[in-house]
Amino acid sequence: MQKVTLIMAMIQEATPIIEQLQLQPCADFLSKSPSRAFTGQYQGLDISLVVNGTDIIHNVECVGTQPATLAAYEALSHFQPGLLINAGTCGAFADKGSTIGAVYLGERIRFFDRRIPMGDYEAYGHGNYLCPEAVQLAGQLNIPTAIVCTGNALDMSPTDEAILRREPVVNKEMEAAAIAWVASLWQVPFIAIKSVTDLLDGGQTTADEFMQNLDLAAANLNKTVVRVLDHLGQ
Ligand code: SAH
Repeated sequence: MQKVTLIMAMIQEATPIIEQLQLQPCADFLSKSPSRAFTGQYQGLDISLVVNGTDIIHNVECVGTQPATLAAYEALSHFQPGLLINAGTCGAFADKGSTIGAVYLGERIRFFDRRIPMGDYEAYGHGNYLCPEAVQLAGQLNIPTAIVCTGNALDMSPTDEAILRREPVVNKEMEAAAIAWVASLWQVPFIAIKSVTDLLDGGQTTADEFMQNLDLAAANLNKTVVRVLDHLGQ
């Protein structure tokens, strides 16, 4: 049976998928990090879903690259999947054609805030992980693709904006490139599925817009994840 692992940052993003796929908490996924896992079977696929978990000091979801790296490492070690999927939310530019609730697959994934202008460190900083499996899937399922840009800030500095705007269609988020790096070490194919919660050029505060649109974005994300799993399970 093909094993697929999903990694998601926030439980609010993951809940519709956990409910629809009827995944159950996985008792033997023991972790010193706050990560939690859920498992089940769907369309002949062996599914595991790992969330980054809740920060015990601040009582918020562990968003960002450090928890994502740990969760990816733990998920790959424990479940040994043949495919890793990061599903989550993102910001995008309206003037590049993006709308709230639109869902993309990442054709390429890069860091936007690891600026190391020092020889080969520059390219290392950007990451730039190619995702041929996602491009193929996007063509088969008619899902648009984007350049997924990862950094550890929810807000956007002018420097970040200039870097992000160099890319054609942008998904700005906080985990995918970290997970893509771990997947590349394990040589496991990696697919990022991102749903837009906020418009980077929309004029509204990102945090407010995020909370307002999270349910819609999570519902659309769920639909696309299920479409992808239906396709893989055929
Ligand atoms: N405001 C939220 C926190 C969201 S943190 C709260 O109070 O609960 C942002 C999370 O959503 C990250 O996991 C990130 O991957 C994603 N995200 C959505 N929009 C983003 C944006 N514009 N920039 C960066 N990350 C974004």
